[in-house]
Amino acid sequence: MATDTGTAGDLALVIVAAGSARRFGADKLSQPLAGATVLEWAVRSVRAGFPFAPTVLVVHPDRESEMAACFAPLGVTVVRGGARRQDSVRNGVEAAGLHDDGVVLIHDGARPFVPVGDVRAVADAARRNAAAVLVAPIPDTVKRVGADGLVEATVPRHGLARALTPQGFRLEVLRRAWDAAGDAEWTDEAALVESIGGRVEAVTGDVRNVKVTRREDLEAMAAAFPRRVRVGQGVDVHPFAAGRAMWLCGVELPGEIGLAGHSDADVALHAVTDAILGACACGDIGVHFPPSDSRWKGAASAVFVAHAIQLAAEKAMRVVHCDLTLLAERPRIGPHREAMRARLAELLGLSPDDVGLKATTCEGLGFVGRREGVVAMATVTLEQA
Ligand code: MG
Repeated sequence: MATDTGTAGDLALVIVAAGSARRFGADKLSQPLAGATVLEWAVRSVRAGFPFAPTVLVVHPDRESEMAACFAPLGVTVVRGGARRQDSVRNGVEAAGLHDDGVVLIHDGARPFVPVGDVRAVADAARRNAAAVLVAPIPDTVKRVGADGLVEATVPRHGLARALTPQGFRLEVLRRAWDAAGDAEWTDEAALVESIGGRVEAVTGDVRNVKVTRREDLEAMAAAFPRRVRVGQGVDVHPFAAGRAMWLCGVELPGEIGLAGHSDADVALHAVTDAILGACACGDIGVHFPPSDSRWKGAASAVFVAHAIQLAAEKAMRVVHCDLTLLAERPRIGPHREAMRARLAELLGLSPDDVGLKATTCEGLGFVGRREGVVAMATVTLEQA
C-alpha cells in the first residue's frame, strides 16, 4: 500500500530547475519573493504535501554546488540537469530511489505556489490512473494570432485547459515513455506519456499556481504572498551632563542641559537604532558602534540610524512605522514635538504620519523623577521590502 511518507520508494518529489531564463532576462528562480526565492517557495509548496518524501532538485550544471549548499541542508538531493527537459527529469527521477510501482510528482521550479490539496490530489490520481496532470480552466476567449499581429481565428475553448505542475506518474509508465520518445522533445511529462497512448487524468487545480515567466508574474505573485513583518524594541538611558548640548530625535534643543555620552548622546535615536537592529536580529548599537571606537566620539547619532536601515535593507526589510516614548522630567517635549517627529520621520524615510512621539514624566519617582537622566523606548515595525 502506498504511504504518505514515501519512505519505501512509494512516492518521490522531483523539482525541475535546470532551464535557462531567456524570457525573464535574469535568473527568475533566484528572484526574491516573500522572504525566500521563487525556487525555495516551489520546493516548499510541493513538499508541504509530502514532507517526508525523498525530494530531488534538478539544476543547471553551472549551479550545482551553489544549489547544493542551499538545499542539501534541507534534506533535498541536488542533481544536474541534461540537455532537454525530459533528460533533466530523468536524472532527477533516477536519483529518487523509487520502485517501479512508485509514484513521482514532477514540479516546475518556476511555480512558487501550489496548494497542499492540489499536490495530494495529483498524487492520488497518479496512484489511481498511473498518470495525472494538474490543470486550470481558461476563462478568457482564446484567439489564434498570426505573425502579422492580426487575429486569425477564435479557438473554441470548450475542453481546453492549461497544464500546470505537479504532474504525477508511476515510474514504470515514465520509463516506457522515455524509451519510446527517442530524439523527440517534450515540454511536459504528461505530453510524453500521451505520446505513447497513456491515459492521463486531468485534476483541476488552483488558478494561482502560476509559472513565473515575466516580471509581471513575479509582481502579481508577491502581492498574493503575506508580507513578512518584524517588530523591534529599543531602550536607552543617558544621564544629564552639564555643558553638553541636548539632542533628541536629531534635533538640538537650545538652552537645555544635554546628556552624557560618547556620541551626541541622542538617547531617542539610540533607542530607535536598537529597535531596528532588534527587528533584524542584528545585535545592538554597542556591537556596531562600540564606545571604545574613537570614530564615534561626538558623532551625530543619525549615522547610527542610517547604518541600521542599511543593515535592514541588506535583509530586504524596510522601516514602515516607529513609535517612541520618552521618560523625562525635562526638557519639556511639547514645544519641540513636531520638529522632532519631522526629523525622525526624515531619518527613517517615513511620513510623519507613521511616526509616533510621546513623552511622560515619572511623577518624581526614580532616577528620571530625580532629574538625573532621560529614558527612551522605541518600537519600530519593519516590512519586507
Ligand atoms: Mg545610548
